[in-house]
Amino acid sequence: MKDKNCIFCKIAKKEIKKGPFYESDNFVAFRDGSPVNEGHTLVVPKKHFVTLLDIPDKLGVEMLNFVKKVAERLMEEKFGDGFNIVMNNLEVAGQVVMHAHIHIVPRKEGDGVRLVSRVGG
Ligand code: 5GP
Ligand code: ZN
Repeated sequence: MKDKNCIFCKIAKKEIKKGPFYESDNFVAFRDGSPVNEGHTLVVPKKHFVTLLDIPDKLGVEMLNFVKKVAERLMEEKFGDGFNIVMNNLEVAGQVVMHAHIHIVPRKEGDGVRLVSRVGG
């Protein structure tokens, strides 16, 4: 599946200025444009897949290892003392960019970030 106008495809192909800071064979990591916390990072497959369910099983291990490496690096760089991993899949779950991506959100004590909650909760 391809999407010529997909912003994350463009970032993955390094067609825009503020591109990936880390990459593996099939994944890239770059900073979220509207971070909820300092160091908020997105991990995306280089190929255009829409949700987790579209990402081939054979990329699963590489994806998890890549997420771990990026999270480790964010911790080493003192962006957080812990981190959340979040993935929104399809619109009803809050997915806005229709190119599969994993959020890595570094966390610090008392930062006030709340990632998954019910309205009013
Ligand atoms: P979603 O709600 O789809 O899981 O999150 C999409 C994320 O992509 C949002 O956190 C948003 O800030 C980020 N984002 C959207 N457009 C761009 C962009 O052009 N560049 C970067 N770096 N991040 C973007
Ligand atoms: Zn794409």
